[in-house]
Amino acid sequence: MTSHGSTRNSTGTNLDPWYHHYADRAAGLSTSEVRALFAVASRPEVVSLAGGMPFVSALPSELIRSSFDRVMTDSGPQALQYGSGQGTPALREQILEIMALEGIHGSVDDVVVTTGSQQGLDLVTKLFINPGDVVLAEAPSYVGAIGVFRSYQAEISHVALDDSGLVPEALRERIAELNAAGKSIKLLYTIPNFHNPAGVTLSRERRLEILEICRDNGILVLEDNPYGLLYFDGPPPQAMRSVEEDGVVYLGSFSKTLAPGFRIGWVLAPHAIKEKLILANESAILSPSSFSQFVVSEYLRTADWKAQIETFRGVYRERRDAMLTALGEHLPELSWTNPNGGFYVWVTLPEELDSKAMLPRAVKELVAYTPGTAFFADGSGQRFIRLSFCYPTSDTIRLGIRRLATVINGELEL
Ligand code: PMP
Repeated sequence: MTSHGSTRNSTGTNLDPWYHHYADRAAGLSTSEVRALFAVASRPEVVSLAGGMPFVSALPSELIRSSFDRVMTDSGPQALQYGSGQGTPALREQILEIMALEGIHGSVDDVVVTTGSQQGLDLVTKLFINPGDVVLAEAPSYVGAIGVFRSYQAEISHVALDDSGLVPEALRERIAELNAAGKSIKLLYTIPNFHNPAGVTLSRERRLEILEICRDNGILVLEDNPYGLLYFDGPPPQAMRSVEEDGVVYLGSFSKTLAPGFRIGWVLAPHAIKEKLILANESAILSPSSFSQFVVSEYLRTADWKAQIETFRGVYRERRDAMLTALGEHLPELSWTNPNGGFYVWVTLPEELDSKAMLPRAVKELVAYTPGTAFFADGSGQRFIRLSFCYPTSDTIRLGIRRLATVINGELEL
């Protein structure tokens, strides 16, 4: 019998009368104990370095409000109506302009607007993954992607990552092992820029090498890039999609460069795939929110959105600096990554510590983080924690790191 975590309460008792009715894929949808702790961590006295919430207060709310108003005045009936399953042509044109900043030159025909890039992940997985197919993903990888892959019963195979991103040699070896075992490898899922959770960026040489490996092995690359424009010390190498069109599905999002509340992301698909993708989008949601698309489009047309992204960079750069300095002052014996953009620092704990076991103690000390185990499909990751610097102010970050040092030093003394 398959066990369905989502249908059990915290003591493991089965209270759901439909427990035996679920499809096998529902087994992948389980609540973690980490989520329960996050409920506690959301108390105002707890410094949360756990979530990845963008600092939307830095947005020009008046400009966004006036975009809303103009949409209602000029295009109310269309904005309130169902729309195309591919997204509005105006927004798709603007998305091309944004992608051009990262070296991507696609066709407006191949852009599909989605309800956040999370839905792009879901659609691509739905199109390509049969139960048991392999998805290669960095070790660690984005928790939300792991959830999607699991929900389609993929086998997730992690590949080593270091300070320059995914390691090509490790990828080659893993592919050889999986091929020898007769597995069907469908996708390589990668976050090349300012990785969530690892904070690292894939070097240009590795991008090219990885593309070649995937091309040689018939593996489709799923390039997830929500953070690429949020760089602090200079732009990252150009997108993988900028050098390879047919073998890369690119995911973009307005969640980090504008606001996640609009729930607007996009897929730039190889031309051959885009028709299926639109059909999958229509089957899932009919059409992405017309209203959100109109407002985002109007905002992009009338606001200095590049200056706004620069503002975000400044806010996050200052917070990153605060976090790295505080780590250096209070936890010098640990090691961590040095992100050049994005939201996250990935910390390695001393071997004897277990980040998941330590979390209740941290919450007691009024600080929260995400344990590394959330980012591995195979239950590993105990020695790591992800710290987010995107939402709390620099002062709050410093307070949080001081508290974290108390927790870690206390654990080491036990
Ligand atoms: N991919 C990555 C790597 C992310 O960090 C996130 C959000 N945390 C997403 C995808 C999903 O973002 P959205 O659906 O808001 O575009």
